[in-house]
Amino acid sequence: MKNLFEQYPLINQLVSLKESEWFNPNTTTVDAALPYVGLTQADVQDASDRLTRFAPYLAQVFPDTAINGGIIESPIRAIEAMKSQLESQYDLPIPGKLLLKMDSHLPISGSIKARGGIYEVLTHAEKLAIQHGLLTLTDDYRQLDSEEFRSFFSQFSIAVGSTGNLGLSIGIMSAKLGFNVSVHMSADAREWKKAKLRSHGVNVVEYQSDYGVAVEQGRKEAEQDPNCFFIDDENSKTLFLGYSVAGERVKHQLEALDITVSKDQPLFVYLPCGVGGGPGGVAFGLKLAFGDHVHCIFAEPTHSPCMLLGVHTGLHDQISVQEIGIDNKTAADGLAVGRASGFVGRAMERMIDGYYTVSDSTLFSQLQTLAKTESIQLEPSALAGMKGPFVIYQQIDYLARLNYSNKALKNANHLVWATGGGMVPQTEMEKYLTIKT
Ligand SMILES: *Cc1c(COP(=O)(O)O)cnc(C)c1O
Repeated sequence: MKNLFEQYPLINQLVSLKESEWFNPNTTTVDAALPYVGLTQADVQDASDRLTRFAPYLAQVFPDTAINGGIIESPIRAIEAMKSQLESQYDLPIPGKLLLKMDSHLPISGSIKARGGIYEVLTHAEKLAIQHGLLTLTDDYRQLDSEEFRSFFSQFSIAVGSTGNLGLSIGIMSAKLGFNVSVHMSADAREWKKAKLRSHGVNVVEYQSDYGVAVEQGRKEAEQDPNCFFIDDENSKTLFLGYSVAGERVKHQLEALDITVSKDQPLFVYLPCGVGGGPGGVAFGLKLAFGDHVHCIFAEPTHSPCMLLGVHTGLHDQISVQEIGIDNKTAADGLAVGRASGFVGRAMERMIDGYYTVSDSTLFSQLQTLAKTESIQLEPSALAGMKGPFVIYQQIDYLARLNYSNKALKNANHLVWATGGGMVPQTEMEKYLTIKT
């Protein structure tokens, strides 16, 4: 361990809990990086097609998805007033547009987990129904909304370990289809999320310890039941693909806003990172959709910098923040993860430009500023990306490495991925909005 601190001096700074950043000098082009992912454009297309097959069913059982034809997607919004406010706070002008990807307002579960979590449940349901001869790919999937199907799915169970939002997505979707579902929740999971799950008929199992323990216990319980499917947030390629469908959709959304991505106008995307599946999957989709001129940067709490630590040291899931003396305690409950996914770090490290940490106090301060300037209310985790543009414009080496013209850097656009908050109860939100920062 002493050696590790000597070999990677940055770890000392992480341990000091100061806001830090690391921009990886070993990133490569998309083409060179793709073989390490082990997944392709065809896999993303397959996921997209599956979501299209389920869309009529989703539109029927979740009426708030009906206006979008059962496709679970969120808007992109320019946040000019927030941008001006941040520019004066940081005393740094940011050229280009500051855009917000509002996964906070995704239907069904109000967070980025409505992408991966719901997709994995649908994939499992489809597989079971096809295996048992109840469904074919060309059927009208609205038939899943029936007593026959609910009673079929009730013979099977689904389990997941979660800090909250993944549990919400998987719990609500599984229960709707008729599955028996257990959500193993870590100590930092919010009470209201547990209550909401119980109201949907989900079995909530509570732990006094952190996310890693909740996942392990969930995995163990599931192993004892051959009819139980354990959704593995740390290693699931299915979850990852559910997130990756966002890439192509963002491309269409930006086209509609007349925003192009090219060597003359790069796009920087700032993604809050917990275990890594959400931001990793989205980044994979974005790289496939846009190529080398989209740049993805991961943001983590100062108390939970697991992905930065794992990629920087090359140890990935072989090291936790606790092992270097960091407590993994943060108000950003969606990001309170001490050990990163080994799959995501290894698959995506060549395509992620950089990683930075942000303190809880910055998260709350920006949460409040966004509410004031734009009337958009998010949960703390969802603000992690907001500081991103102000981080990168101070990275002289990184910017030089990118090798863009000054004009291109001035034309760059910035997309902050707002990952959750749409379903936070008002009483809880009041606390976020009034907490001293
Ligand atoms: C889960 C979550 C993330 C990060 O996703 P990971 O897959 O854990 O990296 C970010 N923000 C919110 C609000 C989340 O719930």
